[in-house]
Formats: sequence, C-alpha cells, structure tokens
Amino acid sequence: MRGSGIVARWRSRLPVTARTPIVTLGEGDTPLVRADRAAAAAGKPAGSVWLKLEGCNPTGSFKDRGMALAVSKALEARATGVLCASTGNTSAAAAAYAARAGLRCVVFLPKGKVAAGKLAQAVMHGAEIVEVDGNFDQALTMAAETATKRGFVLVNSSNPFRIEGQKTGAFEVVEALGRAPAAHFMPVGNAGNITAYWRGYRELGTRPRMFGWQAAGAAPLVHGRPVRFPRTVATAIRIGNPVSWAQAVAARDESRGAIGAVTDAEILSAQRLLARAEGVFCEPASAAPLAGLLRLARAGRAPSGTVVCVLTGHGLKDPETAMKAKTKIRRVKAGGEFRL
Ligand SMILES: *Cc1c(COP(=O)(O)O)cnc(C)c1O
Repeated sequence: MRGSGIVARWRSRLPVTARTPIVTLGEGDTPLVRADRAAAAAGKPAGSVWLKLEGCNPTGSFKDRGMALAVSKALEARATGVLCASTGNTSAAAAAYAARAGLRCVVFLPKGKVAAGKLAQAVMHGAEIVEVDGNFDQALTMAAETATKRGFVLVNSSNPFRIEGQKTGAFEVVEALGRAPAAHFMPVGNAGNITAYWRGYRELGTRPRMFGWQAAGAAPLVHGRPVRFPRTVATAIRIGNPVSWAQAVAARDESRGAIGAVTDAEILSAQRLLARAEGVFCEPASAAPLAGLLRLARAGRAPSGTVVCVLTGHGLKDPETAMKAKTKIRRVKAGGEFRL
C-alpha cells in the first residue's frame, strides 16, 4: 500500500498492535533518484550514486517517519501531549502529527538558530513554542525534565519509536535497488538517523558501509569529545553532544565505515551542485553527505560500488541561506522587448 504511511507499509517490522491508533500523513515511500552528474563530480561511473529524497515527506524531512510512530504510540499511551527540543525539523514534524492526533505539542527551540521554514510550520500547526536562550543541547535537557514532570511524551530521538519509524528508510532503499548499496552516506547530528538506518539494514541481513558526516564546527564524533559551542550553517546538525553517540560509533565500526567532517563552504558548494546539476533542492545539512563524498574523491578514497546519499530535508526549510547564494537579477520596465 503505497502512500499510506510507514506503519501500513511495514507493520510486521514495527512495534504496533491492532490497538495502536495509527497517526499518518502518508510519510515514507520517498523517491530514490539517480544522480549521474554528482557521480561524475566524484569520479564515479554513471548509475553509482543515488539520492534518497527525504524532503518529499509530508513536513519536508525524514523526521516524519519516526514521528508517525512516536505520536501513534503516545496516543496509544493516552498521553496529554508531546514535547521536544529541536533544531527545527523535529518540531515541525511533532507539531503536524500532534495536530493530526489532537494532542498538545510543546517545542523548545534554541534562540535564533531555527530556520524560517521550520519555525513557520511549528507556528502554523499550533505548537506551543518555548524559545530557549541557549543551544540545542541545553534545550533538550530542559525539554526532558519538563516532559518527565508534566506527563508529556518526549518525542526527541531518545524516544525508541522514533528510531523504529526511521529505520523504514533503509527498507525502502533495499527494495528500490534490489539490494543494499555498497556505501550509505548521511548527515549526522544527534545520530538517531544513522542508528535507525543501520538497524534497518541489519534487520534485512545487509551491511552497507555507513559513512556519517558532521559539520566541521560541530563534529563531536570526529573529535571524540563534545563540542561546547557548535557552529555551522547547517542548523539541522548544529549538535555538540549527540544523544545516540554510542550507537553511531557502533554503526561506523560494525560496518567498517567512517564518520568525517566537512566545512560549511563544502556543504554550501554541494548544496548548489545538487540544485543546479541534479534539480534537487535540499537544506544545507542534507548536502553534507555529497560534500563528504566529494572530499573522499579528492583524496582518491571514494568508496567503489553503489553509494546512496540521504538528503534529509527540503531546501525550502531554510530560505535565508539559499538567498545568500549570489545571483544576478536584471530589472526591466514591463512591456517592450527583452533580449536574452
Ligand atoms: C534531524 C536532521 C538531521 C540529523 O539527524 P540526526 O538523527 O539528529 O543525526 C540531518 N538533517 C536534517 C535535515 C535533519 O532534520
């Protein structure tokens, strides 16, 4: 049943029962598209690089997969509401799925660090918004404490149902390709998604090499210690102390993969390449995996075989960053002939 959401599609592999009220917006079943120009840029043959367009989910990011299940389970548990801290996409997804479920939704957002499109979604869906004068990691601590005290369900990626829902992305990749890719590339912030994809691949008995990418100014997993003041244009991965640290390291080591860092300049350049050469507009964090592939290629170390890059969120999430890209706009009076 395509288009009916991740639970209807993968029910036997998910922790639901006949009594679980399923909250869905038709998430999942996102396109996996060939990217031959990106492949060429990485010195790889045509047909070897594929993009999983998670921006095509209902709220524009992969967070919908995990949120569909987390909110369904919160409803089953008769919670009064859901609560999260967020760099933006988690709050957008929580707000939408809570609205659909008829639950209260409270979101803790780090001040001044949430992209405009994501904030607009939380506002529009009627979430109760708390602006925290601090970074994401501090907002998460506050959110967790408040949830425990007030009987709300925390829907950050520490919620096990988030990970369970997100692993369905790996099922779709294997189904679309007919087998697992040789290497799986994705951005890493709190590391819930790399944990989820690795679990999904393992449940199918496959083991692609997992390559996670952090921003250079927010690369705790690369340095091996938390980053106190994470900085990067890729706000979705501006995380200094990942919640799923140990699981990310396990995915890397068990799969003989790697977790590396890319600079903001590399991220923005890869974002532009995807938009201009592939017709795919993703948000900055989502360009980190291609930036990583290009970095490995420059060092002569791009993995051989099929590479899948997960483009985690839609470009329209962060219009301010996009509008900073230099472009020439010609101004003319209406009427008359225009010569190109
Ligand atoms: C949440 C998010 C990430 C990071 O995912 P984690 O599970 O926190 O590692 C990357 N990109 C986008 C667009 C996101 O919304």
